[in-house]
Amino acid sequence: MIPIKDAEKIVNDIDLKPKIERVPLPDSLHRVLAKNIVSQINMPPFDKSAMDGFALSSKDDSQRYKIIETIAAGDIPGEGIRKGECAKIMTGAMLPEGADRVIKREITAERDGYMHIVEEESVKNVCRKGEDVKIGDTVLKAGVLIRPQEVAIFASLGLASVPVYKKPLVGILTTGSEIVEPGRELESGQIYNSNAYSLSAQLCQVGADVEYGGIAVDDEAGIRKQVTRLFKKCDVVIISGGVSMGDYDYVPGILVKLGVKLYFRKVAIKPGKPTVFGVKGDKVFFGLPGNPVSTFVIFEIFVKPFLYRMMGYDYQPPFNKAVMKHDFKRKKSGRTAFVPVKFGEGFVEVVEYHGSAHIYALAKANGLLQIPVGVNEVLKGSTVDVRQV
Ligand code: AMP
Ligand code: MG
Repeated sequence: MIPIKDAEKIVNDIDLKPKIERVPLPDSLHRVLAKNIVSQINMPPFDKSAMDGFALSSKDDSQRYKIIETIAAGDIPGEGIRKGECAKIMTGAMLPEGADRVIKREITAERDGYMHIVEEESVKNVCRKGEDVKIGDTVLKAGVLIRPQEVAIFASLGLASVPVYKKPLVGILTTGSEIVEPGRELESGQIYNSNAYSLSAQLCQVGADVEYGGIAVDDEAGIRKQVTRLFKKCDVVIISGGVSMGDYDYVPGILVKLGVKLYFRKVAIKPGKPTVFGVKGDKVFFGLPGNPVSTFVIFEIFVKPFLYRMMGYDYQPPFNKAVMKHDFKRKKSGRTAFVPVKFGEGFVEVVEYHGSAHIYALAKANGLLQIPVGVNEVLKGSTVDVRQV
């Protein structure tokens, strides 16, 4: 059994070379940018009006201004504004030569072809050419996880496609002769397969592609066949169940026979002690203990950061500081524990939790309280780190 830090280091030290592809702009959301984005244009590309109003020179203090033209967004202005003149202008329209200020319509009056300012205001109401971004500016750096606001930036720079890191294809295999797919009738001794679906949802959140291998009954030859198929096709394979010490826990043995180098088989973590991690060539394998909370937690702790790294993203788990609402005690302290909690505005409350099969506890939780090795109690009022899930 190795400490969680050592296991994290092993997984982190696996050398990865994320590959790059170009995707159409609308498909870039939730992907990781693979190259710096340097702007080829000024933003805005010309001096433009920020208001519906009248464009004139800020040095011109005439009593009234002759309206010499109307400029709509998209129009090219006429010959320019001189003293005593203005142009009626719409938001987003190009400023005419000689104008550097727009008087908003609300504080003006129009009479006989002239504009009068009826209220004083000092703002210019003009967006200057290149004030947001200049040609040659590095607007975004490689490694950024693309959100809707980044999609907007690509579009505003005129990019129809975006260089991103390739997503890994991740195979999921569920093991267990007692496991049945949702939608079917449960027979005596059987339980529904929740792990395949929690895992594929977690993979979907990370942005990986999923190859679902179905359920393998606890039979060595059958599991081996399915693992081999997934290994051929996928970059990463996640197997749920069959990694522990039971008579029918075939997975580690199968992997060894398939030539996978197992880096660890037991981690000092609760839940999730019998976690397996192995590598063969450029293929990576995670064996997750079958209890649903273990599967979920081990994905969060080990698999998620690894997959993000495969996609060129330096994922930092979201930790929040909060204050314990009550005491929490545990009998044994030999493993780093992750306990489902509900936290909010500075408080942490441990939810009712019967152990690693109790997946319902996770639905009530929005965080995992991390309790280090050697710590038996966390007292009311103490500040703790909660990992958001
Ligand atoms: P195992 O890791 O195979 O020893 O399984 C540990 C526990 O998790 C057993 O009670 C299994 O029935 C349960 N389990 C295994 N796989 C799943 C699954 N896909 N969905 C829900 N529970 C599971
Ligand atoms: Mg099993």
